[in-house]
Amino acid sequence: MTSTNEEKFTFTKDESDPLKDKYGVSPFIQSQFDPSHRFQVKFQKICEINQELDGQQVKLRARLQRSRIKGKSGFLVLREGVFTVQACLFVEDGKISKQMINFVNSLHLESIVDVTATVKKVPKPVESCTQKDVELSVETIYLVVSAPKVLPFQMEDALRKVNPELEEDDYQQKKKDEEKKEEKKEEEKDDKKKKKKEKKEKKEQKEDKEKKEIVVKMNTRLDNRVFDLRVPTTMAIFKLQAGVAHLFREYLDSKNFIEIHSPKLIGGASEGGSNVFKFKYFNQDACLAQSPQLYKQMCIIADFKRVYEIGPVFRAENSFTSRHLCEFTGLDLEMEIKEHYFEVLDILGELFYYIFNGLKERYAKELEIVNNQYPFEPLILTPQVLKLPWTEGIKLLTENGFKQDINEDLDTENEKALGKLVREKYKTDFYILYGYPKSARPFYTMPDPDDDGFTNSYDAFIRGEEVLSGAQRIHDYDLLLEKVKEKGINPETLSDYLNSFKLGAPAHGGAGIGLERVVKLFIGLGNIKKCVLFPRDPKRLKP
Ligand code: ATP
Repeated sequence: MTSTNEEKFTFTKDESDPLKDKYGVSPFIQSQFDPSHRFQVKFQKICEINQELDGQQVKLRARLQRSRIKGKSGFLVLREGVFTVQACLFVEDGKISKQMINFVNSLHLESIVDVTATVKKVPKPVESCTQKDVELSVETIYLVVSAPKVLPFQMEDALRKVNPELEEDDYQQKKKDEEKKEEKKEEEKDDKKKKKKEKKEKKEQKEDKEKKEIVVKMNTRLDNRVFDLRVPTTMAIFKLQAGVAHLFREYLDSKNFIEIHSPKLIGGASEGGSNVFKFKYFNQDACLAQSPQLYKQMCIIADFKRVYEIGPVFRAENSFTSRHLCEFTGLDLEMEIKEHYFEVLDILGELFYYIFNGLKERYAKELEIVNNQYPFEPLILTPQVLKLPWTEGIKLLTENGFKQDINEDLDTENEKALGKLVREKYKTDFYILYGYPKSARPFYTMPDPDDDGFTNSYDAFIRGEEVLSGAQRIHDYDLLLEKVKEKGINPETLSDYLNSFKLGAPAHGGAGIGLERVVKLFIGLGNIKKCVLFPRDPKRLKP
């Protein structure tokens, strides 16, 4: 955003105001004060302002989220991160002048202000703020950093509780298409015409209501992402994202995994897939890593025993779905196994429950903030993680009228359908499906010992959407080479990886998890882009 002079804050102080020193513009912060003064002023965190501070004076630095001036009184909402508190100014108090109210009125929303105030208990909860049982009685207020007069969008609009689908830029078109389909179906049933008319009227009424509400569209949010990241709901999503990564690391550290950092600049074609980003690395061909797969396996051959990585993953997915990105954060792990790949499944099950419980226990405030704007049902979970054999999953689908070839991977619709059926039958929103057909898995997947058409592999699902993919890997050089050739990959392109198996590789397995998908599905959000700081899709390479 360009800042024009008209957007800049201007205010002329009335020098005759006896309270003129209680407000104004703070000096530009250039570290000009004596450093020994540093800790003399304690800034109060908004999240810690509560009834226990009743009657006490506090000083805080916050964003001016809202300002309502009515004659001789002012009501402000001050925000720090995701936390907000109400602040009031009344001229009748004798501590506030009319000129001070004018000064506050002229401040641009989203400016940073320093406020000293007295904390006061309130008889009725302040519903619009996170700090509900108190308000602040303002004594001084200084502008520290001004925001522009014209903001990319209004914070209040971005915080409004609306149907999240309305935020999608192509929502109206999608809806029209759906309606056309629906109309066609309805026309075929004459007797249902009356019902249709009633339904249409209801729909129109609902739409009218929705249109009246100002909705900040996804592209507007993403084009102005820095401002959008300030929106408490958006910020809460990223606190949850940090939480998932933190809990992932914490759990695996406790199980003696070593954190690794594998290269993202790869010679040749990463795993031989088609969706790679290619580029010139000085004068040779290279690509961006599609996963840390080959490197984490090489660390197992190097006897690291158990490794994990949290890092970027690049996929040239030329499609727009609500769950695919061109760059996402992979939560990857790989471990030696003694006898059976269920050793990995046990770790994965425990890991996910650790993450789910950790989010519930440690991030209750963030979950509440997201839930207020985008309501979601908490996950239902079985006491023990459900491990469902592939054959059982297919049976469940076909018995319920869905078409599914046992030798082919699930498509998105069947994945969702199976999620619903599993929820009904087993009462869980999280489960692991194991024993996939070989057509659905990459070359390095260990075949099933009893049937070569199947594999020792697994996916995990939250609310019927894939979040994890993994398998026991082939650790025998000759078998691996055979499978590479079977998939039509030139072994030369994988020579460093393949040769490392000649050194003798322990039996091992692992998994790759999409961080953004875990966040999206834990809180039941529709679009994955809400869970990426600066998303990348085929059309979006900035900001
Ligand atoms: P999908 O079938 O959903 O496209 P995939 O089979 O290509 O995923 P893997 O390559 O096995 O997925 O990746 C492991 C995990 O990484 C997935 O379970 C998912 O959580 C995440 N993931 C994969 N591709 C993407 C993507 N393009 N954007 C975001 N997350 C992804």
